[in-house]
Amino acid sequence: MNGKTHMLFGSVASLYLLPKLGYEPVLTTTAAALIGSLIPDMDHPKAKINQKILPMKNKVGKILFYCGIGGFLLYRYGLENRLTFASAIILILIGLSQHRSFTHSILGIGSMAAIAFFVLKSTLPLQIILSFIIGLISHLIGDFMTVAGIELFYPFSNKKYRFVLTISSGNLAETFIGLFLIYLIINFYMQNGFSMNFFYSLLHMITH
Ligand SMILES: [Zn+2]
Repeated sequence: MNGKTHMLFGSVASLYLLPKLGYEPVLTTTAAALIGSLIPDMDHPKAKINQKILPMKNKVGKILFYCGIGGFLLYRYGLENRLTFASAIILILIGLSQHRSFTHSILGIGSMAAIAFFVLKSTLPLQIILSFIIGLISHLIGDFMTVAGIELFYPFSNKKYRFVLTISSGNLAETFIGLFLIYLIINFYMQNGFSMNFFYSLLHMITH
C-alpha cells in the first residue's frame, strides 16, 4: 500500500472513530493520524518519505539518520521534555527496525502507541494521541490487506499474515480504495456540515 493510501486510510479512520470515542475531529487530530499512518514505513530506506529526507539513501544511512536524531534529542533534552523524549525513542526504534518487521508488528505498534500514550498524556490533548495511535493501527490494517502481508508476531515468529482478500501495492484496486476513502472524507464533511476549507486543507496535506 503506498503512502497516499495509508494517509487517506488513517484520516478516514480518525474522522470516523474519534466521534465514537467522544471527541470532535479537528485539523490537528487529522494531522496526528497522518503522521501515525506514515511512521511504520519510515523503517524502509526506499520509502517515499525517506527518499526525500535521508542524506544517504540506504540501510546504513537510515540507521545513522534516525538513531542520530534520536540520540541527539536524548542527549540535548534528556527526560525533561516529554515530546522530544517520546520522539527520540520512536526514531531510534524506526532506525533499528528492518522493513515490515518491528514497525509492522503488534509489538512494534503496541510499543509506539504505549510510548505516545504514557509519555505524552499529560503534554498533549488525548484526542491528538488517540488519533496518532489510530493512524498507526490503520497502517497495520492497510498492509495486512496487501499480498506481501506483515510479520504480525515479529520477533517471536517470522510468519507473514495477510487478509483472505488482498491487493497488490499500486494496482487498480488500490486506486479504487483511494477514491472510496476520498468519498468517505467528503461524506463525513457533508454529514457534519463542517466547512469545506477544512476538507480542502486536508486533501492538500495528503496530495502535496
Ligand atoms: Zn507499511
